[in-house]
Amino acid sequence: MSLYTMKEILADARKRNYGAGFFNAVNIEMIRAYIRAAEDCRSPIIIGTAEALLKYGDFDWIGPVLLQAARLAKVPVAVHLDHTYRFDTIMRALRAGFGSVMYDGSVLSYEENVRRSAEIAGIAHPMGVGLECELGKVGGLDEGEGVRGENIYTDPGQALDFVEKTGADFLAVSIGTVHGVYRETPKLDLNRLAGIRAKVNKPLVLHGGSGLSDDDFKNCIKGGICKVNIYTDIITAAANAVRKERDLAYVDINEKAEAAMYEAAVDKLKIFGSDNTY
Ligand SMILES: [Zn+2]
Repeated sequence: MSLYTMKEILADARKRNYGAGFFNAVNIEMIRAYIRAAEDCRSPIIIGTAEALLKYGDFDWIGPVLLQAARLAKVPVAVHLDHTYRFDTIMRALRAGFGSVMYDGSVLSYEENVRRSAEIAGIAHPMGVGLECELGKVGGLDEGEGVRGENIYTDPGQALDFVEKTGADFLAVSIGTVHGVYRETPKLDLNRLAGIRAKVNKPLVLHGGSGLSDDDFKNCIKGGICKVNIYTDIITAAANAVRKERDLAYVDINEKAEAAMYEAAVDKLKIFGSDNTY
């Protein structure tokens, strides 16, 4: 199947009221687990990698593998570059043929986030590449020296100003989720999401989705979230599956991990309501 773009998949998700799952990968087992899950569920899917994950799988080989896996899939698959802070990493994805990239300027001042996001949109758009940006900040990412970023909620009025000034195609919003493993039960601000939805006519993205309840996901998707990023739940499933298997050969450990990631991905695609849409 020809390569899909995130823009195409999210347009369909919006029209038919489901959430598209985005899954980060650093190796072939992860990619294969996601694609098999999507094919078995007859679901579109978005796969990719992020700047912080390139130390586990360098862009020069994970990029082409992601693209090839997407082309070979029997369901629509888009390839996206997740959280990226460096201009040259974005350029590598543009050159490789990724359909979309995320520039994360959420740690910067509002003005600087606008300036840099708009600059990247100016390069990505003429190449037909979609741009995801983040406004407010979904905390929990490593900011160096063991510091975990704090949450800053997205302001609906500022969100409108942001997409108008930057030309961002997809907006990651901060409504109470946190990256990584939750230390306490997350409290989602669905009123805030409704406020952003009312102002911003672009697909909205939920980060920090791992650990939310099924109802949380469904309420967010009903409230206008078109794309849900999932990573921690997947790697946790893999780790739990192999933790007790000390006597297995390496290749069998890989297989156990892949099976667990497949199950975790299937589970998410069903909760997001993207199963049986293709
Ligand atoms: Zn994220």
